[in-house]
Amino acid sequence: MQLMWVSGPTGDVRTISITARKVLVGTCVLAFSLLATGFLLHLIGFKLAIELRPELARAMGGVTTEAEQQRMESTYREQLLKLQKLLDTTTQDIRQLQQLKNRFMDMATPASVRDKDGTKEDGKGGPLVPQTRTGGDSHQPLPQALDDAMQELTQLQRVVVQMRKDWGTQLAWLQTLPIGMPIRGEFHVSSGFGMRNDPFTRMLARHEGLDFTAATGTPIIAAASGVVTRSGWEESYGNIVEIEHAEGFMTRYAHLSKRFVNEGQQVVRGQRIADVGSTGRSTGPHLHYEIFRHGRVINPAHVLPLGSS
Ligand SMILES: [Zn+2]
Repeated sequence: MQLMWVSGPTGDVRTISITARKVLVGTCVLAFSLLATGFLLHLIGFKLAIELRPELARAMGGVTTEAEQQRMESTYREQLLKLQKLLDTTTQDIRQLQQLKNRFMDMATPASVRDKDGTKEDGKGGPLVPQTRTGGDSHQPLPQALDDAMQELTQLQRVVVQMRKDWGTQLAWLQTLPIGMPIRGEFHVSSGFGMRNDPFTRMLARHEGLDFTAATGTPIIAAASGVVTRSGWEESYGNIVEIEHAEGFMTRYAHLSKRFVNEGQQVVRGQRIADVGSTGRSTGPHLHYEIFRHGRVINPAHVLPLGSS
């Protein structure tokens, strides 16, 4: 096809022949320019969106501005600071709990054991609680700070697990010391440790235990876990039971009406081992209770939570 036209005052005649190739090239150029314009417009729009509506830009292309990043980082830092403060408070709480537990341990441990085994680590101490930091370091890179907080948390968790284990061990140790009451139910302490007038001879005599007056049949229980080393009869003590415990302790229960344990038997604290009676050299139903340490008789009041010392 040919286009002809007359141009200007000179009347030049111009002709353009339109071939299929030219049409194709023209179309391509037009299409390309349209695409380029579209892309340019998109870029401009995107830039505008980044500046004006960052969340829209994020949605459009997963891109954040520097300002947005800083805002995000400061939010994370704020959260991290809160976490670090919480970690510090928890650490302090754990340390206070540990001190409290040590005080309870001191109270529950008989004086004789406390004095002689002061170096024993079983009764005291516990795992080391990590030192608290003095706030977060704001110059530390965020990933590093997060990593540190995580490590601290892991360490704290490890301490708590170790503490639970240690406390269990200590509790088990206390169970083996005769610091529990030897009798359950209604009773009153009728005769204390030391010099007194013997109820039979009326003469001054040493009383090497505590007398718990109670009705016949009142349950007598093991003051601590241990092994029964004697379960029998003796003229003065009547029915008698002896139990060997940890740390060189031994307990003796006398004047029993009934015995429920045999020699060599393992017993736990609180287990019923006998009943109150008035057998042997006794004026009425009561439990005569003695505590020995390394073969020497000691005042049960020094071991039992009776208030006196
Ligand atoms: Zn007595």
